[in-house]
Amino acid sequence: MRRQRNVKIVATLGPASDTHDMIRALHEAGADVFRLNMSHGTHEEIRAKHQIIREIEKELDSPIAILADLQGPKLRVGAFANGEETLEEGAAFRLDLDEAEGDSSRVNLPHPEIFAALKTGAHLLVNDGKIRLKVNRCDAESADCTVVTGGVISNRKGVNVPDVVLPLAALSEKDRDDLEFACSLGVDWLALSFVQRPRDVIEARELAAGRAAIMSKIEKPSAVENFDEILDVSDGIMVARGDLGVELPVQAVPPIQKRLTRKCRAAAKPVIVATQMLESMIESPMPTRAEVSDVATAIYEGSDAIMLSAESAAGSYPIEAVRTMDKVATEVEADTNYHGIIAASRDGRQSGVADAIVAAAREIAETTDIKAICCFTQSGTTALLTARERPGVPIVALTSQRDTARRLALSWGCTCFMVGELSRFKMAVVNAARVARAAGFATDKDQIVVMAGVPFNVPGTTNILRVAPCDERLIYSTDPG
Ligand code: ATP
Ligand code: MG
Ligand code: MG
Repeated sequence: MRRQRNVKIVATLGPASDTHDMIRALHEAGADVFRLNMSHGTHEEIRAKHQIIREIEKELDSPIAILADLQGPKLRVGAFANGEETLEEGAAFRLDLDEAEGDSSRVNLPHPEIFAALKTGAHLLVNDGKIRLKVNRCDAESADCTVVTGGVISNRKGVNVPDVVLPLAALSEKDRDDLEFACSLGVDWLALSFVQRPRDVIEARELAAGRAAIMSKIEKPSAVENFDEILDVSDGIMVARGDLGVELPVQAVPPIQKRLTRKCRAAAKPVIVATQMLESMIESPMPTRAEVSDVATAIYEGSDAIMLSAESAAGSYPIEAVRTMDKVATEVEADTNYHGIIAASRDGRQSGVADAIVAAAREIAETTDIKAICCFTQSGTTALLTARERPGVPIVALTSQRDTARRLALSWGCTCFMVGELSRFKMAVVNAARVARAAGFATDKDQIVVMAGVPFNVPGTTNILRVAPCDERLIYSTDPG
């Protein structure tokens, strides 16, 4: 589907968005990527959503990326008899190993390792830090706390213990099981929660064995410290601001977001800015000014994608939330300042022929009247390098690999189309022009840039750039070969 913006939108699916009609409406409103959170819901529920997305992809004939988010060593409270409770500031609240449903005085915390490591005076943060509890007394099975910051606590909300170092393995039994399940379904991306070191990513990469691209969620201080090494072994990054803003002081998050976004772009790997982007839209059809500004900031910083969590998974206004992101993106990208800001943060590093060719493609597109940069890509690398340039005209990625087309749905500015395998560059130009015309990027009066690698089907060979007319007769009459 052709969008009028470059930044992509990721929508998390959940109980508020689990029907065919709803998911299709979210896609039509602007969601390019769907996130399935393995923390919530059964394998059968995940399978049903996956199947619906693939049906919609077929109906609309446009590649959609599916991101399966592995829970990782996330700590969560159990369930409440009433589904939720309101904790008042100053009240007593107990966490324990008792599996009975919770009430306003206690709830299950099914993690003996927390009780073993807890100390009097430590703080427990619930639901991305919205609720704060202070430990008064603890033993191997329970902790008596005082509510320091109150609020609504509900089933399976996450818990962080920033004051205490917990012995956490990167992938739990559940994660391994979920990873295998997600790969067998055929998801495009796997997101790894609470990555701490490159080794965690390599382990998941080995298990995925090429069946899905690997995205590292940055939400631990150690992941920030080891970021360069983690980026090296990842295919993409998520700035997971929810847990990050609990594990680190909340004011540390914006500079980290900026730094990570720039590094990902320099490495030509997609980056998602996630969590609380339009949080108030869980309950309200209108966002706050601050949220709109936050979304705009991520776009001005050049992130590949912006994400909705509970807004689309469990909120009352999922479609309005996607539409809001779409409208903010369209407005920001139409701002005359936008292009200058994006250009100023371009990292000039060029190490190979392909880097030089994509840079040249952008130069040509921006200094002459070119309607689209069309690139033939097998692994997706040429499209990623083109996206790194953040050109002022649309990127049309053409591939014979369905996996590549789907994965690129997450990357800045890329619109992907499936083409048959080609053996001659002239046919590549003809195909690119046809796609550009059919999808409304150009008319037969226009010109496009076409990039490809010859010989075809050898990855990493991008070595030809042609400025080509879209009129098929002219393509033949002006063909240099
Ligand atoms: P993560 O740390 O992976 O982001 P999360 O618990 O914050 O985990 P999100 O996917 O960000 O989960 O969604 C935010 C909220 O939406 C969750 O706290 C949960 O209440 C709700 N939610 C999301 N997906 C589902 C689902 N499939 N079933 C039930 N509730 C869901
Ligand atoms: Mg998280
Ligand atoms: Mg979340």
